[in-house]
Amino acid sequence: MPKCLICKTDYLPFISFGEMPIANGFLTSTQFENEYFFSLQVGHCPNCHMVQLVEQPDREMMFHDDYAFFSSTSKRQEIHFKEFAKSVADKYLSSDDPFVIELGSNDGIMLQNFASAGIRHLGIEPSKNVAKVAIEKGVNTISEFFDEKLADIIIEENGKADAILAANVMCHIPYLHSVAAGFKKLLKPDGIIIYEDPYLGDIVEKTSYDQIYDEHVFYFSVASVSNLFEQHDLEVVDVAHQDVHGGSMRYIIAHKGEKEISESVNIQRIKENELGLHLPDTYKNLAKGIESSRTQLLELLTDIRKQGKRIVGYAATSKSTTVTNYCSIGPELIEFISDTTPIKQGKYSPGTHIPVKSHKVFKSNYPEYALLFGWNHAKEIMENEKEFMESGGKWVVYVPEVKII
Ligand code: SAM
Repeated sequence: MPKCLICKTDYLPFISFGEMPIANGFLTSTQFENEYFFSLQVGHCPNCHMVQLVEQPDREMMFHDDYAFFSSTSKRQEIHFKEFAKSVADKYLSSDDPFVIELGSNDGIMLQNFASAGIRHLGIEPSKNVAKVAIEKGVNTISEFFDEKLADIIIEENGKADAILAANVMCHIPYLHSVAAGFKKLLKPDGIIIYEDPYLGDIVEKTSYDQIYDEHVFYFSVASVSNLFEQHDLEVVDVAHQDVHGGSMRYIIAHKGEKEISESVNIQRIKENELGLHLPDTYKNLAKGIESSRTQLLELLTDIRKQGKRIVGYAATSKSTTVTNYCSIGPELIEFISDTTPIKQGKYSPGTHIPVKSHKVFKSNYPEYALLFGWNHAKEIMENEKEFMESGGKWVVYVPEVKII
């Protein structure tokens, strides 16, 4: 039986997605033969309520010098991180020479805002290709994995931090006790830790199972995050729901007793209890909802193809890897996936081997239907794709329910 990565309690997985490839591992046809697969299963710890993957591939298999996710491909995310950085600078950087650290700083999407304001900063980004883009933008970056050991080195070389930031990365790190111990040492006494990740409450409410893939080892709630940091003499002092990545939660954390705890923490915990995030039945129902979504999507796509209509996937994301593999959607249903990221174009989707083509190809011969894998950017995408819709094109979406728009 697997043991909880946070509290070591035995738990049982509530769903298995079967054998899955590396979600961001877009590949060439010569790599098909040696493609790596692992068993994607998720469980809920009955003791500390952390929802987590049973198995995760080695970190070097996911984060390396050919990492396919570049944060700055989304304009909306650029605005989001500009606002995030501004809120940190306005509220928490009043010391003489403030120092800001970010984990998983990627291509510098957040830290570029501190760099341009002349604020001392350091990005920690193990994937060398995206780190290089940040460095070229003038963002100070080291290519390492953050853990307690690295925190010691940073303190020695740079001193302690006023703010430690992270977005969409804490949920990637299985050794969170080492990370939290590192934060405890690295944070100034009145400093602040602010991080955000996809929120478990949204996944349960929207059945957004495509958030589940190799990189996301944890699916956080305020309850599970509070429990983790309490063990390191740190506490959640505020939380704020974010309308990005299909619903995320921002956690604001400080040394225990240093800052007043906002009422929003308690309010959110009450909401989590009402949603039943602590109850095994919630996850049994989630599993049923996921299975039913798969059946409906597969039936709809098969039906469209039977009518002789074309379907193209829109946005080759890690989310699309979960959906295509779990639902067995291959090139016989989806002609190709359109994506604007050059590193993915000319390659194939992990596991199901659907060709990935440029947006130019999509535009040159619109299909009747586009399967919207980037549903979390639906507003931005639909604003940009008016021409497709005017040509009679329709969207197939599957979150929160399978339907045609
Ligand atoms: N923060 C960016 C954003 O929200 O767009 C990037 C998020 S991306 C999904 C996750 C990033 O975390 C990757 O660039 C990956 O290389 C990095 N990462 C993974 N493990 C890490 C670790 N232990 N320490 C620091 N960064 C890590």
